[in-house]
Amino acid sequence: MGSAGRALLGWPVLRQVLERDARGLGATARSARTESLAPRTRDSDEVVRSVCPYCAVGCGQLVHVRDGRITDIEGDPDSPVSQGCLCPKGAATYQLVTGSYRVHNVLYRRPHGTEWEVIPLERAMDMVAERVMRTRAETWEELNDDGKPLRRTLGFAHLGGATLDNEENYLIKKLFTALGAIQIENQARI
Ligand code: SF4
Repeated sequence: MGSAGRALLGWPVLRQVLERDARGLGATARSARTESLAPRTRDSDEVVRSVCPYCAVGCGQLVHVRDGRITDIEGDPDSPVSQGCLCPKGAATYQLVTGSYRVHNVLYRRPHGTEWEVIPLERAMDMVAERVMRTRAETWEELNDDGKPLRRTLGFAHLGGATLDNEENYLIKKLFTALGAIQIENQARI
């Protein structure tokens, strides 16, 4: 067969007709290259059930692990919520874990500073705690104008993100309510 004939046989529509593959999902879609490919989930040591961290829908996920590292995150067909589906955001969860742009250090920019500084997590936690307690002390409202108890602060609020899971949200709500904050929200509800 000449090069023109080979080129013609490479034409997808003709291959679909010759292969009796009207939808182009069978033999037509295969090549020597695709035959040599295998899903990266095939050699998983472990598959862990989880929930997508991005929004309140709570789609089920299967987290594939090999040699102690996450190799893929896919929809869980057994989830009654999502039945194996993930939206584009949820389907990209793997990159949340492995993305090269993920920041692994605490970054701090001083007031009026123009550069980010890497600081230890312990120092950052101390700085946050000191600011929260100072603000709470400075803005505490014990009684209203009628002498009725308020015992609250409007000095700080908490806005959670959709990557917080149920347990983290529960603890955050407990903590901030105990501190006297009344402005406690989550991005997934907004
Ligand atoms: S972000 Fe998408 S995949 Fe994740 S829970 Fe929400 S709808 Fe489901």
